[in-house]
Amino acid sequence: MTDTIEIDRLHKRYGSRIALHELDLHVRPGTVFGLIGPNGAGKTTTLRTLVDVIRPSSGSVRVLGENPRHGGAALRRRIGYVPGELHLEGRSSGHRMLAFYAQVSGSRDATATLRTGRDLADRLGVDLSRPVRTLSKGNKQKVGLIQAFMHRPELLILDEPTSGLDPLVQREFLQMVREAKDAGQTVLLSSHVLSEIQQTADEVAVLANGRVVADGDVASLRLGSIRRVRAEISTTDAAATRADFDRVPGLTGIDASDADGILQLSGTIDGAIDPFIKVLARFEVRDLTVEEPDLEESVLRLYGASATPASARPATRRSRRDREEQR
Ligand code: ATP
Repeated sequence: MTDTIEIDRLHKRYGSRIALHELDLHVRPGTVFGLIGPNGAGKTTTLRTLVDVIRPSSGSVRVLGENPRHGGAALRRRIGYVPGELHLEGRSSGHRMLAFYAQVSGSRDATATLRTGRDLADRLGVDLSRPVRTLSKGNKQKVGLIQAFMHRPELLILDEPTSGLDPLVQREFLQMVREAKDAGQTVLLSSHVLSEIQQTADEVAVLANGRVVADGDVASLRLGSIRRVRAEISTTDAAATRADFDRVPGLTGIDASDADGILQLSGTIDGAIDPFIKVLARFEVRDLTVEEPDLEESVLRLYGASATPASARPATRRSRRDREEQR
Protein backbone atom coordinates (compact mmCIF):
# COMPACT_ATOMS: atom_id res chain seq x y z
CA MET A 1 0.00 0.00 0.00
CA THR A 2 1.31 3.49 -0.79
CA ASP A 3 2.18 5.66 2.14
CA THR A 4 -0.31 8.40 2.97
CA ILE A 5 2.48 10.96 3.06
CA GLU A 6 5.66 10.58 1.00
CA ILE A 7 8.27 13.26 1.43
CA ASP A 8 11.51 12.66 -0.46
CA ARG A 9 14.56 14.93 -0.41
CA LEU A 10 12.42 17.94 0.43
CA HIS A 11 14.54 21.05 0.43
CA LYS A 12 13.27 24.51 1.31
CA ARG A 13 15.18 27.76 1.25
CA TYR A 14 13.97 31.15 2.32
CA GLY A 15 16.54 33.38 0.61
CA SER A 16 19.87 32.29 2.04
CA ARG A 17 18.25 30.49 4.99
CA ILE A 18 17.74 26.78 4.59
CA ALA A 19 14.65 25.68 6.49
CA LEU A 20 14.64 22.05 5.34
CA HIS A 21 17.66 19.99 4.26
CA GLU A 22 16.68 17.21 1.87
CA LEU A 23 14.11 15.83 4.26
CA ASP A 24 12.77 12.27 3.90
CA LEU A 25 9.63 11.33 5.77
CA HIS A 26 6.98 8.69 5.15
CA VAL A 27 3.72 8.24 7.03
CA ARG A 28 1.91 4.92 6.74
CA PRO A 29 -1.89 4.80 6.35
CA GLY A 30 -3.86 4.54 9.57
CA THR A 31 -1.01 5.60 11.83
CA VAL A 32 -0.42 8.59 14.08
CA PHE A 33 2.89 10.22 13.27
CA GLY A 34 4.46 12.81 15.55
CA LEU A 35 6.85 15.45 14.30
CA ILE A 36 8.73 16.97 17.17
CA GLY A 37 11.50 19.49 17.41
CA PRO A 38 12.51 22.73 19.05
CA ASN A 39 11.45 26.15 17.76
CA GLY A 40 12.63 26.81 14.24
CA ALA A 41 13.30 23.12 13.50
CA GLY A 42 11.19 23.18 10.32
CA LYS A 43 7.95 21.54 11.48
CA THR A 44 5.61 24.24 10.18
CA THR A 45 7.50 24.49 6.89
CA THR A 46 7.13 20.73 6.39
CA LEU A 47 3.40 20.72 7.15
CA ARG A 48 2.70 23.76 4.99
CA THR A 49 4.25 22.08 1.94
CA LEU A 50 1.80 19.19 2.42
CA VAL A 51 -1.19 21.50 2.00
CA ASP A 52 0.46 23.59 -0.74
CA VAL A 53 0.63 26.74 1.37
CA ILE A 54 4.31 26.86 0.49
CA ARG A 55 6.17 25.22 -2.36
CA PRO A 56 9.36 23.18 -2.07
CA SER A 57 12.65 24.54 -3.44
CA SER A 58 13.34 20.97 -4.57
CA GLY A 59 12.36 17.42 -3.73
CA SER A 60 9.06 15.63 -3.98
CA VAL A 61 5.95 15.59 -1.82
CA ARG A 62 2.96 13.31 -2.29
CA VAL A 63 -0.14 13.34 -0.10
CA LEU A 64 -2.78 10.62 -0.44
CA GLY A 65 -1.03 9.64 -3.66
CA GLU A 66 -1.16 13.12 -5.18
CA ASN A 67 1.08 16.11 -5.59
CA PRO A 68 -0.44 18.82 -3.33
CA ARG A 69 0.35 21.39 -6.02
CA HIS A 70 -2.01 19.71 -8.46
CA GLY A 71 -4.52 18.06 -6.13
CA GLY A 72 -6.74 21.17 -5.84
CA ALA A 73 -10.01 21.25 -3.92
CA ALA A 74 -10.65 17.52 -4.34
CA LEU A 75 -7.45 16.65 -2.45
CA ARG A 76 -8.02 19.44 0.07
CA ARG A 77 -11.41 17.93 1.03
CA ARG A 78 -9.71 14.68 1.99
CA ILE A 79 -7.51 16.53 4.48
CA GLY A 80 -8.26 18.24 7.79
CA TYR A 81 -5.66 20.94 8.55
CA VAL A 82 -5.00 23.04 11.60
CA PRO A 83 -2.37 25.70 10.87
CA GLY A 84 0.22 26.67 13.48
CA GLU A 85 -1.02 30.25 13.56
CA LEU A 86 -4.75 30.26 13.40
CA HIS A 87 -6.40 33.56 12.44
CA LEU A 88 -10.13 33.58 13.08
CA GLU A 89 -11.25 37.18 12.89
CA GLY A 90 -14.63 36.83 11.18
CA ARG A 91 -17.79 38.49 12.48
CA SER A 92 -19.83 35.34 12.04
CA SER A 93 -20.60 32.96 14.87
CA GLY A 94 -18.71 29.71 15.36
CA HIS A 95 -21.85 27.92 14.28
CA ARG A 96 -22.15 29.81 10.97
CA MET A 97 -18.50 29.37 10.27
CA LEU A 98 -18.68 25.62 10.82
CA ALA A 99 -21.85 25.43 8.70
CA PHE A 100 -19.92 27.06 5.87
CA TYR A 101 -17.01 24.62 6.25
CA ALA A 102 -19.45 21.71 6.39
CA GLN A 103 -20.85 22.80 2.99
CA VAL A 104 -17.48 23.04 1.30
CA SER A 105 -15.31 20.55 3.06
CA GLY A 106 -16.29 17.07 2.25
CA SER A 107 -17.86 14.20 0.56
CA ARG A 108 -19.88 13.53 3.73
CA ASP A 109 -23.38 14.87 4.00
CA ALA A 110 -23.14 18.45 5.34
CA THR A 111 -25.82 17.86 8.00
CA ALA A 112 -23.95 14.88 9.43
CA THR A 113 -20.69 16.88 9.34
CA LEU A 114 -22.28 19.75 11.22
CA ARG A 115 -23.77 17.38 13.78
CA THR A 116 -20.29 15.98 14.40
CA GLY A 117 -19.04 19.56 14.68
CA ARG A 118 -21.59 20.37 17.38
CA ASP A 119 -20.75 17.20 19.29
CA LEU A 120 -17.08 18.12 19.21
CA ALA A 121 -17.90 21.65 20.40
CA ASP A 122 -19.70 20.11 23.40
CA ARG A 123 -16.79 17.83 24.14
CA LEU A 124 -14.22 20.61 23.93
CA GLY A 125 -16.46 23.13 25.68
CA VAL A 126 -16.70 26.00 23.19
CA ASP A 127 -19.66 28.32 22.69
CA LEU A 128 -20.53 28.31 18.98
CA SER A 129 -23.09 31.10 19.31
CA ARG A 130 -20.42 33.76 19.83
CA PRO A 131 -18.68 35.61 16.97
CA VAL A 132 -15.41 33.75 16.52
CA ARG A 133 -13.30 36.91 16.72
CA THR A 134 -14.50 37.49 20.29
CA LEU A 135 -13.32 34.05 21.45
CA SER A 136 -10.20 33.58 23.56
CA LYS A 137 -7.07 32.11 21.93
CA GLY A 138 -7.78 28.65 23.34
CA ASN A 139 -11.43 28.72 22.21
CA LYS A 140 -10.39 29.81 18.70
CA GLN A 141 -8.02 26.87 18.67
CA LYS A 142 -10.94 24.58 19.56
CA VAL A 143 -12.93 25.91 16.58
CA GLY A 144 -9.86 25.27 14.41
CA LEU A 145 -9.71 21.66 15.64
CA ILE A 146 -13.42 21.13 15.08
CA GLN A 147 -13.28 22.34 11.45
CA ALA A 148 -10.38 19.94 10.82
CA PHE A 149 -12.00 16.88 12.43
CA MET A 150 -15.71 17.25 11.73
CA HIS A 151 -15.81 16.01 8.13
CA ARG A 152 -13.82 12.91 9.17
CA PRO A 153 -11.08 13.39 6.57
CA GLU A 154 -8.76 10.56 5.58
CA LEU A 155 -5.78 12.62 6.74
CA LEU A 156 -5.39 15.10 9.59
CA ILE A 157 -2.44 17.50 9.49
CA LEU A 158 -2.22 19.31 12.80
CA ASP A 159 0.42 21.95 13.49
CA GLU A 160 0.93 22.33 17.25
CA PRO A 161 -2.76 21.52 17.80
CA THR A 162 -2.78 21.83 21.58
CA SER A 163 -1.23 25.29 21.80
CA GLY A 164 -3.38 27.45 24.05
CA LEU A 165 -5.53 24.57 25.32
CA ASP A 166 -5.83 23.88 29.03
CA PRO A 167 -4.78 20.40 30.27
CA LEU A 168 -8.31 18.94 30.43
CA VAL A 169 -9.06 20.00 26.87
CA GLN A 170 -5.66 18.69 25.77
CA ARG A 171 -6.65 15.31 27.16
CA GLU A 172 -9.94 15.40 25.23
CA PHE A 173 -8.01 16.30 22.08
CA LEU A 174 -5.68 13.31 22.54
CA GLN A 175 -8.75 11.13 22.83
CA MET A 176 -10.06 12.57 19.54
CA VAL A 177 -6.77 11.61 17.90
CA ARG A 178 -7.06 8.04 19.21
CA GLU A 179 -10.63 7.81 17.91
CA ALA A 180 -9.51 9.10 14.49
CA LYS A 181 -6.90 6.37 14.39
CA ASP A 182 -9.43 3.73 15.42
CA ALA A 183 -11.64 4.92 12.55
CA GLY A 184 -8.76 4.32 10.12
CA GLN A 185 -7.76 7.97 9.64
CA THR A 186 -4.10 8.96 9.38
CA VAL A 187 -2.80 11.73 11.63
CA LEU A 188 0.36 13.82 11.33
CA LEU A 189 0.85 16.20 14.21
CA SER A 190 3.67 18.47 15.23
CA SER A 191 4.56 19.47 18.73
CA HIS A 192 7.36 20.61 20.93
CA VAL A 193 5.72 18.86 23.85
CA LEU A 194 7.17 15.40 24.14
CA SER A 195 4.54 13.89 26.43
CA GLU A 196 1.67 14.52 24.01
CA ILE A 197 3.56 12.80 21.21
CA GLN A 198 4.37 9.89 23.52
CA GLN A 199 0.73 9.45 24.43
CA THR A 200 -0.61 9.34 20.88
CA ALA A 201 1.98 8.66 18.21
CA ASP A 202 2.94 5.29 16.77
CA GLU A 203 5.98 6.74 15.09
CA VAL A 204 7.92 9.90 15.54
CA ALA A 205 10.55 11.94 13.77
CA VAL A 206 12.72 14.39 15.64
CA LEU A 207 13.52 17.45 13.57
CA ALA A 208 16.33 19.85 14.38
CA ASN A 209 17.59 22.56 12.07
CA GLY A 210 15.68 21.24 9.11
CA ARG A 211 16.96 17.67 9.36
CA VAL A 212 15.55 14.48 10.79
CA VAL A 213 17.99 13.68 13.61
CA ALA A 214 16.12 10.57 14.77
CA ASP A 215 13.06 8.62 13.80
CA GLY A 216 11.34 5.38 14.68
CA ASP A 217 8.75 4.13 17.10
CA VAL A 218 8.26 6.28 20.17
CA ALA A 219 9.77 3.85 22.68
CA SER A 220 12.97 3.21 20.75
CA LEU A 221 13.86 6.89 20.64
CA ARG A 222 14.52 6.99 24.39
CA LEU A 223 13.52 10.64 24.50
CA GLY A 224 11.33 9.94 27.47
CA SER A 225 14.22 8.38 29.36
CA ILE A 226 15.64 11.75 30.32
CA ARG A 227 14.17 13.40 33.37
CA ARG A 228 15.10 16.38 35.45
CA VAL A 229 14.89 15.76 39.19
CA ARG A 230 14.88 18.11 42.17
CA ALA A 231 14.81 16.98 45.76
CA GLU A 232 14.99 18.57 49.17
CA ILE A 233 16.14 16.23 51.92
CA SER A 234 17.07 16.39 55.58
CA THR A 235 20.60 15.23 56.37
CA THR A 236 23.14 15.66 59.13
CA ASP A 237 26.09 15.14 56.80
CA ALA A 238 25.57 17.03 53.52
CA ALA A 239 28.97 16.08 52.04
CA ALA A 240 28.44 12.32 52.58
CA THR A 241 24.88 12.57 51.26
CA ARG A 242 26.05 14.41 48.16
CA ALA A 243 28.66 11.65 47.65
CA ASP A 244 25.87 9.04 47.81
CA PHE A 245 24.08 10.81 44.97
CA ASP A 246 27.29 11.19 42.96
CA ARG A 247 27.32 7.38 42.72
CA VAL A 248 23.77 7.08 41.31
CA PRO A 249 24.09 5.65 37.78
CA GLY A 250 22.81 8.00 35.07
CA LEU A 251 22.50 11.03 37.37
CA THR A 252 24.51 13.92 35.94
CA GLY A 253 24.69 17.71 36.12
CA ILE A 254 24.20 17.56 39.88
CA ASP A 255 23.80 20.86 41.64
CA ALA A 256 23.61 20.76 45.44
CA SER A 257 23.43 23.32 48.22
CA ASP A 258 22.88 22.86 51.92
CA ALA A 259 21.76 24.98 54.83
CA ASP A 260 20.39 24.15 58.30
CA GLY A 261 20.44 20.40 57.75
CA ILE A 262 18.53 20.64 54.44
CA LEU A 263 20.19 19.56 51.22
CA GLN A 264 18.72 20.84 47.96
CA LEU A 265 19.75 18.71 45.06
CA SER A 266 18.99 18.84 41.35
CA GLY A 267 20.25 16.96 38.32
CA THR A 268 19.31 15.03 35.20
CA ILE A 269 18.71 11.30 35.02
CA ASP A 270 19.23 9.42 31.78
CA GLY A 271 17.74 5.93 32.08
CA ALA A 272 16.23 4.10 35.03
CA ILE A 273 15.03 6.26 37.90
CA ASP A 274 15.01 3.41 40.41
CA PRO A 275 18.62 3.78 41.72
CA PHE A 276 17.96 7.46 42.46
CA ILE A 277 14.73 6.68 44.31
CA LYS A 278 16.48 3.95 46.36
CA VAL A 279 19.15 6.40 47.56
CA LEU A 280 16.53 9.06 48.20
CA ALA A 281 14.51 6.64 50.34
CA ARG A 282 17.31 6.53 52.94
CA PHE A 283 16.53 10.11 53.90
CA GLU A 284 13.61 12.23 55.02
CA VAL A 285 12.37 13.68 51.71
CA ARG A 286 10.80 17.12 52.18
CA ASP A 287 10.07 17.78 48.52
CA LEU A 288 10.53 15.99 45.20
CA THR A 289 9.93 17.01 41.58
CA VAL A 290 10.50 14.78 38.57
CA GLU A 291 9.87 16.33 35.18
CA GLU A 292 10.76 15.87 31.55
CA PRO A 293 13.29 18.47 30.41
CA ASP A 294 12.31 20.68 27.52
CA LEU A 295 12.50 19.10 24.14
CA GLU A 296 15.47 21.11 23.00
CA GLU A 297 17.50 19.83 25.94
CA SER A 298 16.44 16.22 25.29
CA VAL A 299 17.26 16.46 21.60
CA LEU A 300 20.63 18.05 22.21
CA ARG A 301 21.59 15.59 24.92
CA LEU A 302 20.65 12.54 22.89
CA TYR A 303 21.63 13.60 19.41
CA GLY A 304 24.41 16.06 20.20
CA ALA A 305 26.24 17.74 17.36
CA SER A 306 23.85 16.66 14.64
CA ALA A 307 21.14 18.74 16.30
CA THR A 308 23.18 21.94 16.67
CA PRO A 309 22.96 24.68 14.07
CA ALA A 310 25.43 24.14 11.22
CA SER A 311 26.85 27.62 11.82
CA ALA A 312 27.68 26.68 15.43
CA ARG A 313 29.53 23.50 14.53
CA PRO A 314 33.30 23.45 14.05
CA ALA A 315 34.20 23.73 10.35
CA THR A 316 35.87 20.33 10.32
CA ARG A 317 32.63 18.64 11.32
CA ARG A 318 30.50 20.23 8.65
CA SER A 319 29.47 18.06 5.77
CA ARG A 320 30.40 18.97 2.25
CA ARG A 321 26.77 19.81 1.55
CA ASP A 322 26.66 22.21 4.52
CA ARG A 323 29.69 24.00 3.15
CA GLU A 324 28.21 24.16 -0.34
CA GLU A 325 24.91 25.44 1.03
CA GLN A 326 26.62 28.25 2.85
CA ARG A 327 28.38 29.57 -0.23
P1 ATP B 1 8.20 26.62 15.83
O1 ATP B 1 8.14 25.45 16.77
O2 ATP B 1 8.89 27.80 16.42
O3 ATP B 1 6.89 26.95 15.16
P2 ATP B 1 9.09 25.21 13.42
O4 ATP B 1 9.77 23.93 13.73
O5 ATP B 1 7.67 25.12 12.97
O6 ATP B 1 9.23 26.19 14.63
P3 ATP B 1 9.53 26.66 10.95
O7 ATP B 1 8.50 27.71 11.23
O8 ATP B 1 9.23 25.65 9.93
O9 ATP B 1 9.97 25.93 12.29
O10 ATP B 1 10.87 27.42 10.55
C1 ATP B 1 12.04 26.75 10.10
C2 ATP B 1 13.09 27.78 9.74
O11 ATP B 1 12.69 28.53 8.61
C3 ATP B 1 13.35 28.80 10.84
O12 ATP B 1 14.72 29.07 10.87
C4 ATP B 1 12.56 30.00 10.40
O13 ATP B 1 13.14 31.18 10.88
C5 ATP B 1 12.67 29.92 8.89
N1 ATP B 1 11.49 30.50 8.23
C6 ATP B 1 10.22 30.05 8.30
N2 ATP B 1 9.39 30.81 7.53
C7 ATP B 1 10.18 31.77 6.97
C8 ATP B 1 9.94 32.85 6.04
N3 ATP B 1 8.72 33.09 5.57
N4 ATP B 1 11.00 33.60 5.68
C9 ATP B 1 12.24 33.34 6.15
N5 ATP B 1 12.55 32.33 7.01
C10 ATP B 1 11.53 31.56 7.40
